[in-house]
Amino acid sequence: ENTKTMAVFPSHLEDSRQAAARLQGVVDSVPLQKEKPLEKLSGLDSGPAIQFKDVSFTYPDETRLTLENINVTLEKGTKTAIVGPSGSGKSTLLQLLLKMYSVDHGEITINGHSIDSLTDESIWENTNVVLQANHFFYGTIRDNLLLANEQVSDEEMEAVLANVQLSHFSLSDQVLEKGENLSGGEKQRLAIARTMLKKAKLWLLDEPTSSLDAITEKKIYEQLFELAKDDTLVLVSHRLTGIEKMDQIIVIDHGKIIEAGTFNELMQQQGYFYKMKQIEQSVFM
Ligand code: ADP
Ligand code: MG
Repeated sequence: ENTKTMAVFPSHLEDSRQAAARLQGVVDSVPLQKEKPLEKLSGLDSGPAIQFKDVSFTYPDETRLTLENINVTLEKGTKTAIVGPSGSGKSTLLQLLLKMYSVDHGEITINGHSIDSLTDESIWENTNVVLQANHFFYGTIRDNLLLANEQVSDEEMEAVLANVQLSHFSLSDQVLEKGENLSGGEKQRLAIARTMLKKAKLWLLDEPTSSLDAITEKKIYEQLFELAKDDTLVLVSHRLTGIEKMDQIIVIDHGKIIEAGTFNELMQQQGYFYKMKQIEQSVFM
């Protein structure tokens, strides 16, 4: 049964990373970097979990800077929210971290290593990633979950399905190519379930619950934050509710960090974040 799964589903991490990249429409710019002798990440490395040092980036064939002089440090075990208008560069930040593109200027480090010195596989293996477009295959729910971690038991998979409010799915239910028979919200929940099985120490979540209602979102975040409580977590969020507890909120606009701090600090500043919060409240009340 498992061998059949292996034939259909590329378990190789590079394949899944490239598949994710392909869905993001960046496949042509994903370089294969296997030839370089590179370091491996281990949880014991020194330095902050993530650091962007004066990073600037422009997409190929673009003239305008997509990200400009980004400086940010994420200490190990902290939780960071990235917020800002659509098109401000939030997803690009995560894509640079995953080496889907190379920075034009500056440096990004993970656990103190420049990402230039890390293999794509090593970064991918050591991160729990949910991107805005997620990759599903023709196969069962079980097959799709095993992509994250081939070692997990059915019981563990069933538990994470419950965590993401998908207990009505059975592991043997069929998923069609690209998850065509799933709703947007089901795909997001399945992607979160998959990331919950991976057990890496660095979580990168790009608007993982944008298609979910607020109540389901809240329940899932409770589970996610419990699982990630000792880990480093980056959450790109379109909603400003529920981010009060984050250690750091980064507000990005037109490719620049315009504000950063805790929820209370940003509210006290009465700047951009404060205005976003006022608008969100007036919209949802
Ligand atoms: P956000 O996630 O904050 O909505 P993105 O990081 O996706 O923003 O995009 C930042 C800017 O880069 C936007 O102006 C967007 O149109 C542009 N952009 C995103 N992806 C690409 C791409 N593959 N090629 C060229 N421009 C892109
Ligand atoms: Mg985005």
